[in-house]
Amino acid sequence: MKRETREYNYDWSIWSIVELASMTCDGSRKEYETLLKLVPNFGDALKAITNMGEPSILLMKSLAKHLKSCLTAHDEGKKIALTTFCFAPPILYAFDVVPLVLEPMAVLGTLILKRGTSEYLDYCCEAGFTETSCSSQRGSLGAYLAGLCSRPDFIICDSPGICDTNANSFSFASAYLDIPFYQLNYPPTLTDSRAAGYHRQDFRDLIGFLERQTGRKLDIDRLREIVRELKRQAELMSELTEYQRLIPCPIPGMFNLFLYSGNFLLSGTKDFTKLLHSMLRIVRANAEAGRAGTPSGRESYRGLFSYIDHYTTDLRFWTFLEKRDISHLGCILSTFWHEGAAYIGGRGDEAYVLRDESLDDLIDSLAMQTSRMPMVKSIRGPYDAPGMWLDDTLMMTKLLKADFVAYFGTIGCRNTWGMVKPYARDLERAGIPALILYSDSFDDRVQSWDAVMDKIDEFIHLRRIGAPYRPAPGS
Ligand code: SF4
Repeated sequence: MKRETREYNYDWSIWSIVELASMTCDGSRKEYETLLKLVPNFGDALKAITNMGEPSILLMKSLAKHLKSCLTAHDEGKKIALTTFCFAPPILYAFDVVPLVLEPMAVLGTLILKRGTSEYLDYCCEAGFTETSCSSQRGSLGAYLAGLCSRPDFIICDSPGICDTNANSFSFASAYLDIPFYQLNYPPTLTDSRAAGYHRQDFRDLIGFLERQTGRKLDIDRLREIVRELKRQAELMSELTEYQRLIPCPIPGMFNLFLYSGNFLLSGTKDFTKLLHSMLRIVRANAEAGRAGTPSGRESYRGLFSYIDHYTTDLRFWTFLEKRDISHLGCILSTFWHEGAAYIGGRGDEAYVLRDESLDDLIDSLAMQTSRMPMVKSIRGPYDAPGMWLDDTLMMTKLLKADFVAYFGTIGCRNTWGMVKPYARDLERAGIPALILYSDSFDDRVQSWDAVMDKIDEFIHLRRIGAPYRPAPGS
């Protein structure tokens, strides 16, 4: 790692950028526009995000608060848990533990820093970790291994059985940093009683681990408060997915990023509820006016990004979609499988249900929520088994009336590379145009962003994708 990269701590740099960005709209419009000229490195990213209005400010303020809590946790006598986006954080909030989620930390660096996160990705390999692992953890893990962040106190991971490269990142980090490690395991099935019983017992053991690490007992009242907040959030998320079905789709594409960032980091907190309310206000207004969520208000194509998004610098993936009036219908990361979500359809046993009466209800609710987190739910078993990735994509495509499906991943995602070709073949057989992109969502060295744009444009053109042009009202 270059000496200059070591000059500033990674978590501090990301926090200070997000904190300052969150204050840019506190002043007048003129002040904001003057400021843009003074921050050439961050101006494009800032513009892309602040164009989303109030929700973007709320998200940035909540993120800044969360990132600061990672920096100040130890001074405030709190523990930090290094974890993954496959894990739902509410149980950590119940113990007053700060969740430090590697993948959103990598996304933030990739989106904001012009230099990207390649130095941190590569540092993991310098430290002895394999370069064939997932970039979504490595993009920030390198900074933690290099000691350029607040030191986590322990690790919780729940990807064994789902994603070996994810699980290996955390076990490597545990050995390298010499900190305790707890892993939840997932059997390849989801809905049978043995799998459900396993999830519940495993989650109870996790609570025992948290009690030992924090030296405190689980606070039932606090847990109940969090589960009630989760219920409110589930209702609001359901409303959002209902709106996603409309033609034109009234949801700005970037709201998917806001939705899953909020859920991965702030699930169960009041800040996330506020963010959901704010997004819904804009979506309802668009729906009433018959406008798409794109800046022009028009929708030319409807795309389902069936895995993850692309996080190249300055949020250029989202501005690319906006310029072409493509509605982003979500990705695997924005589907959470709460009861009442439109995509549950007739498959109620695949949803998690939140109950807040007894202690067992509360614990089971969180165990079920975690067992339905995006990757945990859909890619734990064979891609074409009931309730897995293919089934979920076919149902979402039909429900959301998608014109095409596109796959972005990471080079290390052996889990999906092993099945993505038959998966795309099966989608095509069902009449759905499917595009596999051979890029890395976190590392432009694998395939440049320009090449990715060309591939999408070529696909849309050659396959004659798209419903007829849908004009904006009044145009
Ligand atoms: S993107 Fe692929 S490799 Fe990375 S965590 Fe998800 S399943 Fe694992």
